[in-house]
Amino acid sequence: MGDEKKVAGVSPCTRCRAPAVALVRRTGEHLCAAHFVASVEREVQETVERSRMIQDGDCIAVGLSGGKDSSVLLYILSRLLRDRPEVRLLAITIDEGIAGYREETMKAARALTADLGVEQIVVSFEDAFGRSLDAFLQNPAAPNPCTLCGVLRRRALQTAARRAGATKLATGHSLDDEAEAALMNVLNGDLKRIARTGIPGNAFVPRIKPLGGVPEKEVTLYAVVQGLFLPLPECPYAGQALRSKARTILSTLEYRHPGTTMQFMEGYTTLRERVAHCLEEEGATGGFTRCEECGEPATGRRCQACSLLASLRDE
Ligand code: SF4
Ligand code: ZN
Repeated sequence: MGDEKKVAGVSPCTRCRAPAVALVRRTGEHLCAAHFVASVEREVQETVERSRMIQDGDCIAVGLSGGKDSSVLLYILSRLLRDRPEVRLLAITIDEGIAGYREETMKAARALTADLGVEQIVVSFEDAFGRSLDAFLQNPAAPNPCTLCGVLRRRALQTAARRAGATKLATGHSLDDEAEAALMNVLNGDLKRIARTGIPGNAFVPRIKPLGGVPEKEVTLYAVVQGLFLPLPECPYAGQALRSKARTILSTLEYRHPGTTMQFMEGYTTLRERVAHCLEEEGATGGFTRCEECGEPATGRRCQACSLLASLRDE
């Protein structure tokens, strides 16, 4: 491990012999900046093509927070789609209303869309739900900040994407994000989530994750090499969620045993298929109904967003 790190800084690029900036573990190659950029973009293109994520006539809405992952996603998609005028690309930025944090990332999101000439739609929690995240969290009944933030952001993104006529909603989840979510599903023993069963196809704008095959480290390095990495503040609520513990576990394992994250995700994909099959055989997949308040898909009378909002409503 120590040796590999030392060698990565000084080794020549496997493809052109220029000084390498990265050792790409999934291919075992040392790559210079230009070849590293090409390798990440190729991985994204292959993921998009393998899963047929983007078709002619699509309108792709990118959920753009202004942080590095979603910025890299928008940047790469704008490059991959530059010769495909039949595919429309736009960005949706949700301003959750987190003082001392969102102002800077909102600025970064605005600057990037202006630079790339991509249309940007901005929706705030206040517009969508009547209050900022900070204001919601004043309520002693509020759940973990990231739970509330995540549920409401997903809802706001979906609604904005549908209103904009988007046919796909692209999010900047990397391989590590996918692995963290998978580990949390396993830790929570949530079989239905592991199986990702039956959300009605026409109820949501389908989500795509073009960075799902790229390790977080490579997303970060890509951002640095392309000048997209900005010294942005950290969310004051970060670290309070189970997810941050899952991240620590996985990154520790990955550091000590390189390749663990990818292996885990390969095993998880098989597990998911088997669990889905078993649940289907038992008739235990659980159907979706419509939320009686907002009409979105729900597993009970109310969807997750309406349940949370109801629990926080002043009586
Ligand atoms: Fe929201 Fe949590 Fe992310 Fe902060 S760290 S933006 S509260 S999900
Ligand atoms: Zn609802």
